[in-house]
Amino acid sequence: MIVLKSPREIELIRAGGGILAEAIEMLRDLVKPGVSTKEIDLEVEELIRKRGARPAFKGYRGFPATVCVSINEEVVHGIPAAHRRLQEGDIVGLDLGCIVEGYYADAAVTLSVGEIASDVQRLLNVTRESLGQGIAQARPGNRLGDISSTIQRHVEGHGFAVVRAFVGHGIGRALHEDPQIPNFGESGRGPILKVGMCLAIEPMVTMGTWDVRILDDGWTAVTADGSLSAHFEHTIAITEAGPEILTAGA
Ligand code: MG
Repeated sequence: MIVLKSPREIELIRAGGGILAEAIEMLRDLVKPGVSTKEIDLEVEELIRKRGARPAFKGYRGFPATVCVSINEEVVHGIPAAHRRLQEGDIVGLDLGCIVEGYYADAAVTLSVGEIASDVQRLLNVTRESLGQGIAQARPGNRLGDISSTIQRHVEGHGFAVVRAFVGHGIGRALHEDPQIPNFGESGRGPILKVGMCLAIEPMVTMGTWDVRILDDGWTAVTADGSLSAHFEHTIAITEAGPEILTAGA
């Protein structure tokens, strides 16, 4: 069941989204060669708590950290660690969520560490663009499949692949609500989009196969072929006027 949110509820998600946007701006400065993924995690947790919110992922189904930090071929759900340090030329996916008065917000970006190759920069650009194009479809009267198919078309049109095993989701009083939002599918299919829906749209894109596997830590998803992967996410609300990004800045 898709739960529609009132303006008051959307306001709380927007408040959390603003904290995530601030955290991502901080991360743009923090992410550089030599920084450990644990330091990244601690800085974000401190900021979220300082703003009076709570980390959304820490303890969620046993996840041990505030930020999912996923480097290079890691797609999502990488676990921060003190021994894991960013290196020149890496790309790093940073997925973070927080809770304000019981309402969740969720956002992700993939950042480059120092200089990266031009084809890798293109992966980041295409993934971010696909998110923007998917969001543009999130207007009343459209269907969920319009978001999914638009993302898929943009990604595959540039020769990249869309991960199938993980999808976007409704968001609100729970981190993962209905509907599921695949980053692939057919336009004109699926639920009709309505004012008050809040959605976390999050394309995960690879330079090789769309197939993934899970590492022995039980969390980290990596591309099956070791190819690089990027991830961008915004939480949005559907309004009469179209989509409103609640995690702006991400
Ligand atoms: Mg999400």
